[in-house]
Amino acid sequence: MSSIREDNDGEINPNKALVDRFGRIARKLRLSVTDRCNMQCIYCMPRDTDKNDKTGINKEGIPKGWWLAKDEVLSYEEFFRISQIMAQFGIEKIRITGGEPLLRPGVQELVSGLSKINGIRSISMTTNGIYLCEKADQLKSCGLQSVNISLDTFKAARFKAMCGIDGLHRVLNSVHASENAGLKVKINMVVIRGWNNDEVVDFANFARETGHVVRFIEFMPLDGSGIWSPELVVSKSEIISKIRNDICDIEASAIVDSNCATSYDTRSTPAKLYSFTDGKGTIGFIPSMTEPFCEQCDRLRITSDGRLLTCLFENPGYDIKNLLRGGKTDKDIADYILESVRKKPEGVISIIRSKALKPTLNLMHTIGG
Ligand code: SAM
Ligand code: SF4
Repeated sequence: MSSIREDNDGEINPNKALVDRFGRIARKLRLSVTDRCNMQCIYCMPRDTDKNDKTGINKEGIPKGWWLAKDEVLSYEEFFRISQIMAQFGIEKIRITGGEPLLRPGVQELVSGLSKINGIRSISMTTNGIYLCEKADQLKSCGLQSVNISLDTFKAARFKAMCGIDGLHRVLNSVHASENAGLKVKINMVVIRGWNNDEVVDFANFARETGHVVRFIEFMPLDGSGIWSPELVVSKSEIISKIRNDICDIEASAIVDSNCATSYDTRSTPAKLYSFTDGKGTIGFIPSMTEPFCEQCDRLRITSDGRLLTCLFENPGYDIKNLLRGGKTDKDIADYILESVRKKPEGVISIIRSKALKPTLNLMHTIGG
């Protein structure tokens, strides 16, 4: 029997599914609920590079006027409405991100609301983990299923240098608190040459000791400081060689899991999972720069200021906030989203092909990773 998104002959109906001109069907949605953050990761936020010039810099070292004004950010009701509309067109999984999502008051109410939307099978969150230790239990009881916790180093001084604050202890506490709350935990490590690439083996061992999947992410040109360069990217293959050499052999997993604890088709997740051949531990790779997965991309994003991005590298995307606040009906908004998704670009793969990669192609903290 065909689903509502398919015609009788089993073909995808483009008026009922979020399908683009390359035939990719969106099933995952990321909501960036704030652009604000309490950290300044070197690969994400702008940095005060001239410490002597304080004009135009606020107390956190972020340029003044950098954050969006409160009313420019979508309300929870607006995020909920978009999610409800998109769930009718096949979105099944929602990830809440930011900026730092746990800085936004009441985010657990959003989790609770989203988890009740018809068709939504999983709600997850990507967080820097600073405030997660206190909130893990409540988030779990509101319907959150899994958390991706960003952690780039186990060295306290390096944490401060890379992320701008003293926070290592709190992040590690959050990993434990999340486990205890029953949340599925994954660790995201952005690997940057000369900053933390000497710790990849420690992170692989952490995956083996804790049972949490550690995902090694290639540095993408989505940073606020413009420091990205190809030389700073540490490739998946380089990390694999190091781990094989220093720990033991690893092999690609046939079945991987995605945002939740269920088995999942490898074609619809960017993380390429590998298991250690001694049976202890799983690691993942997000090789966006050296092995882009654009052909399998099944995700859409809503930025904190209410734009639909059909690709991480798309800018400015499509203004949904204007429709939400302009009295448009759900049908008007759905039609606009369906039409915009149809125009989804091929992806970073075409930017790489045309040798047009350069720093600051987009800003990760407004998009949400
Ligand atoms: N503040 C939260 C956090 O850090 O987990 C959520 C937002 S953050 C933008 C989402 C993810 O994007 C994090 O795992 C972060 O490490 C990753 N990220 C940020 N900038 C990146 C970049 N330039 N290249 C690759 N990953 C990046
Ligand atoms: Fe903040 Fe996350 Fe960006 Fe780090 S990666 S600066 S924690 S938004």
